[in-house]
Amino acid sequence: MKRIAVLTSGGDAPGMNAAIRAIVRKGIYDGLEVYGINYGYAGMVAGDIHRLTVDDVGDTISRGGTILYSARYPEFKDLEGQKKGIEQLKKFGIEGLIVIGGDGSYRGGAALTKLGFPTIGIPGTIDNDIVGTEYTLGFDTAINTVLDSVDKIRDTATSHVRTFIIEVMGRNAGDIALWAGIGSGAESIVIPEIDFRMEEVVKEIRAGRERGKKHTIIMLAEGVMQGTEFAEKLKEYDNFHTRVTVLGHVQRGGSPSARDRVLGSLFGYNAVQLLEEGKGGLCVGIVGSELAYSDISETLNTKRDVPYLSLYQINKEISF
Ligand code: ADP
Repeated sequence: MKRIAVLTSGGDAPGMNAAIRAIVRKGIYDGLEVYGINYGYAGMVAGDIHRLTVDDVGDTISRGGTILYSARYPEFKDLEGQKKGIEQLKKFGIEGLIVIGGDGSYRGGAALTKLGFPTIGIPGTIDNDIVGTEYTLGFDTAINTVLDSVDKIRDTATSHVRTFIIEVMGRNAGDIALWAGIGSGAESIVIPEIDFRMEEVVKEIRAGRERGKKHTIIMLAEGVMQGTEFAEKLKEYDNFHTRVTVLGHVQRGGSPSARDRVLGSLFGYNAVQLLEEGKGGLCVGIVGSELAYSDISETLNTKRDVPYLSLYQINKEISF
């Protein structure tokens, strides 16, 4: 293999640049030419492809977002789009591809491999919701961003004896709410994976108040319901002087944490090695603190078990 390419697709995540940098540097170190594809699969089909040098990825490890930009391109679900993409890659003499993104991006990678174009997946999404890894790129930075905000909110919540509902990202996965919840000492964590009863949340708020606690933090994953709706429902039980904060896209930005920079470097390096070994259709991940490989198609057909879901019960027993 002489030429490989990399693209970022779907939602951006801090640490993607660290992975791109590792791919470019490891590829060049091993004598390969490395190409960057702008705007995900859209750029691939449009031929927005350029060679990357060692310098192009200089000064990027500390930057959030993705220097290759990202895009949603539903047309890539069609065979026609996929074939066009492969045609473009072949025009540049590219023989292997690395895709950094979430499960939608993985589906594109699986389709390309099935069509004979070896593709490796790197899990990049703040939601942490990819099978085959316990941690995705961007998750650690996102939960630290949430903690920064909640620490500030806690100050004002205490001053006014308020209940703050913090709505965090996670449509299908509660990982951000779970980790940021336990990390911020939230009285309640509400996630899509575990049914909740409002009566129990009310009990948790009251238990804190009876102990003289001045503030209450409820960490709510957006996939359960919107923060405003949750506040309305809570009001039916008592007036807890509730305020809602929707953190939104701040969770996606910012300089990557040390962990995400290291993960990006590790994932990028190993993805290149897999292509060099002639492998395709695999994705890299971390399982039990070790680097692990899985079959992309298999991960897409496997229901995800949330790692460390036990944190939910632990929080109940230590944050009352
Ligand atoms: P994420 O990768 O973060 O899950 P998306 O679900 O938006 O984000 O997917 C990113 C891109 O991957 C889509 O815009 C599309 O180009 C491509 N994609 C998604 N689903 C498929 C599919 N079933 N087959 C091929 N490509 C897909």
